[in-house]
Amino acid sequence: MKTFVLPYGISGWREKKRVLEDVLSSRQAAPFLYNDVLILVPSSRMKRMYGRLFLDFAERRGSAALVQPEVQTLHQFLQQLYGRLDGPLLMDENSRLVLLEGIVKERLSGSSSFPLSPDLLAPALTSAVAKMIEQLTGAGVNPDDLSGKIKDADFSDKTQVRLLLDVHTRYQSALKDNNLTDPAGMRAFLRDHFDPAWLAHYRTLVIDGVQDIGILEAAILKKVVNREDCAWFVNAPSSDLLKRAGEYHPLWIVHDSLVRIGVLPKEEGVGADDGQLFLASALFSDRPFPELADKAPRPSSFAKTINLLSAVNTREEVTFIASEVKKSLKTGTPADSILIAFPALDEYGPLVEEIFTDYGIPYNRALGRQLSASPVAIAVVSLLRACQEDFSGPSLLRVTSSPFLKFAENRTIAPALDRLMRDRRITGGRRKLLAALKFAKLDEGAPGVLTGPLNELFAALEPFSSPDAAPLNIWMKRLDALLAWSGLGARVAAIHGPLNVNLQAYRKLLETLGSLARAGSLFADYTYTFHEWLFLLKKTFMHTRFQVPPEDEGGVQILGFEESLGPPWQEIYFGGLVDGKFPQRLPQNIFLPEQTLEAMGVRTLERARLNAAYHFYRLLLSADKVTLTYPENEGDRPTVPSPFLEELTPLKKAGLLNRGIEKTSGIQFSLKIEDSRSIPELAKAIGLAGEIKGLDEILNAKIEGLSGIRSALAYKPEERAQGITPLVKREFRVTELDDYIRCPYDYYVKYVLRIEPLEEVTEDISLMARGSKVHAILRNFYLSRTRPVTREARKEARTLLRKLADSAFDTEADTFRNRRDKDLFLTVMAERFLDAEEEFWQQGMKPAYLEQKIERCPLVLSNSEEVELSARIDRIDVDENGNFIIVDYKTGKYPLPKMNVDQDIFQLPVYAVMAQQSLLGKGPALKKPIGLAYYDLAGKTGGGARDVVLFNKEARNDHPSSKPNASPKSAEEFEAILKQSTDKARKAIEAILAGDFPSMPQDENKCRYCPNGMMCEKNEP
Ligand code: SF4
Repeated sequence: MKTFVLPYGISGWREKKRVLEDVLSSRQAAPFLYNDVLILVPSSRMKRMYGRLFLDFAERRGSAALVQPEVQTLHQFLQQLYGRLDGPLLMDENSRLVLLEGIVKERLSGSSSFPLSPDLLAPALTSAVAKMIEQLTGAGVNPDDLSGKIKDADFSDKTQVRLLLDVHTRYQSALKDNNLTDPAGMRAFLRDHFDPAWLAHYRTLVIDGVQDIGILEAAILKKVVNREDCAWFVNAPSSDLLKRAGEYHPLWIVHDSLVRIGVLPKEEGVGADDGQLFLASALFSDRPFPELADKAPRPSSFAKTINLLSAVNTREEVTFIASEVKKSLKTGTPADSILIAFPALDEYGPLVEEIFTDYGIPYNRALGRQLSASPVAIAVVSLLRACQEDFSGPSLLRVTSSPFLKFAENRTIAPALDRLMRDRRITGGRRKLLAALKFAKLDEGAPGVLTGPLNELFAALEPFSSPDAAPLNIWMKRLDALLAWSGLGARVAAIHGPLNVNLQAYRKLLETLGSLARAGSLFADYTYTFHEWLFLLKKTFMHTRFQVPPEDEGGVQILGFEESLGPPWQEIYFGGLVDGKFPQRLPQNIFLPEQTLEAMGVRTLERARLNAAYHFYRLLLSADKVTLTYPENEGDRPTVPSPFLEELTPLKKAGLLNRGIEKTSGIQFSLKIEDSRSIPELAKAIGLAGEIKGLDEILNAKIEGLSGIRSALAYKPEERAQGITPLVKREFRVTELDDYIRCPYDYYVKYVLRIEPLEEVTEDISLMARGSKVHAILRNFYLSRTRPVTREARKEARTLLRKLADSAFDTEADTFRNRRDKDLFLTVMAERFLDAEEEFWQQGMKPAYLEQKIERCPLVLSNSEEVELSARIDRIDVDENGNFIIVDYKTGKYPLPKMNVDQDIFQLPVYAVMAQQSLLGKGPALKKPIGLAYYDLAGKTGGGARDVVLFNKEARNDHPSSKPNASPKSAEEFEAILKQSTDKARKAIEAILAGDFPSMPQDENKCRYCPNGMMCEKNEP
């Protein structure tokens, strides 16, 4: 066998072509029959690349007809070889997970070590166990080996270790009993039974780009390549660097794999140039940075362009990349020689597609997409979720408005349903909807439009409403019937064209459901409740990817790492280089210590880091122009750049980085008209620029998209626009006034323009929803129990809180964060609350008002006009003399008291005044406000939960407080604070009515995480 070391980039590509043409030139004229050549590659994309290469070769020799060499991915090759053997049946990934999930649940049901319900634990634990078993079997470690290796270790009797060992043993015996095998078992079988004669009919064997090879694969490949006529292409800057690569060097992965097979090259291959060699030896070197910088070539002789730039956020980062790509395309760089890569392509993909489309850049995003994100899978899940959520309003609106489901044929259903729920003030629910329809008048239209479709939907989903567990194949049959009823297939097929992404997604969906149905037939003993099965289905959709049509491969290439192997690139843009994502931060192994795993050949964390380092190294060396970027912020959080970027320090010191670039950080797209590179950017720039001379010429150019700008500019309102605040506004909530005081401009965006940040699509409950749940639990606590909380009654009180928490949280999706939120409530908030209540009840006060609404509380403005205030007060505590304290429950931070009368605390004093004024005769008497309290449920201030932040010390001085010096005030000061806050409310209302919305936050720190930064231009110089 001959090993060819090929440098990355164009020189390596030329050499590879030369060697291949040598192989192909054995046939000088048509017919070009090459089915005696076998080529093994790591990805399907590389297969297609080879296909094009051979066609090109034949065409250059005057014939478009050829019998292609056989090109296979390594995985296909091994599967095909295994097909020759009479081994156990190979199961797919879904069957493997179903089997493991069943074993884990079975094991947990009989275990007292895991007191939680196996249904709760199984999904998360199964994934971890499945991964661990996959890694162990991949390294050839069977249960006996594992048990032998850990038997003397002090962790061997830990619960999770025993679980792993037990599940591993049961898994192996289940495979044996059912005559099944998994991918690792298949490889082990093949290693033991491979016969080189199977490949004897191939004249030549070529292996290209296969670099990260496991122990079992290495043992098979060693037998495969043990022949004269085999060529192995190894990508590395030089044989010398490859041989010298130490354990922490990115090339170690290649080195290690080649040593396992015994093909480490002995002699030098085609050399890289000096600049390339310097870069290759400076990156990930064990020498000090200054020493490496000293050896750097002079900038004038360094031909590569390497840039490292940061943009203010991900959108600006992608916009910057798009503008650079557009510049390159305009200078004649072929689109398909430009590579765009991101470590987290799923996150960046939609943004890249949106901005590249705006820029008019032809692109190909070749990485498969997550099935769960396709509209087709979303339609299926939304049907099932409607049943899970007892036909809640939002779920039903999703179903009735989906273009892929049955009701898309009748566009009146969704609006009629929306109207019905609003009119009847219901939020959905099967029973309530049917009752509403029954009592709705026929002339309202809803019964005629909705009764039939809703009853049909309820009937179709009836099989999913059973609380009983059923085997997986029964659930899959029910789903089959539901899909047939929904008309999904016909609607997807109605969208024509081979590039119909939805059709690809639908095919993958059917394939995935078929695979789950097979798994259900294989393991019919394991049963699932509806919730468990739906979780399994969603999890499977999340892990499944579907490919976009391969015909669509022209344009700028937006690819994953593996897919970018192979072709030469002229320019590479490598973005999203943020710590935690690159290299990806993986969780620590929960079963066995890393050293133990390493000793068994399982080096997951280190291997993942090395793999990321390898791609970073390879991409930096693969093109003459490489631009690395990262966002400085993601959402409202600042980021930390990837640690790999430190490797560029010698280049920076030697002046080889960012040559000729002035602005390397804080990059944002320009709002100057002349810098606009897309229609949306031009529209924004024109909108800001006002009157521009010569603009008509551009607007009249026949360019798609300009007509919209032209019409917008042509529109002239007849009269001067009215003030931005409707003058009729007369009712104000205290919380909204607080928002105005915090930042008037932010108030303008939220309450006048009514712009809200887009909600993240997630099953995790939001912070706001968690806060509402906590408020509801604490309100219901005192609605269900009027007795004092004492030390003796604590257990009973805790049980009540737990019960209320169960009903508040258990209706939510079973996600890690939702479970953690509930846990946080039970272990921290509830305990802090009970501690505070025990103390509180000893003070002779009691909670007299709960979630008290106050509406239409009059407030006179300085021009004698009257407006109305409204509020909802969490709780008002009262003593027998009518002295009262306003209470506000907080799950996050709150303003703290100050030493003087000027306070940031605004809402509570206003509540106190409103309560005294408006609740007269509506419950226990509220004679005099004596304190204002927050409940610090999450423990943000370090004190107890009840924090009486301001109180009249002359009325009583025994309140718990986190600021014992600032909280007590004299009666006069306390009164002054109440008055001052009411004055603040008045001034805020007057300013709102006057349309006064300056960008003046109360605390400048608020701007750091404010989504309105760009609109209010607070951060502009
Ligand atoms: S960035 Fe600052 S000034 Fe602008 S709206 Fe936000 S908080 Fe107000």
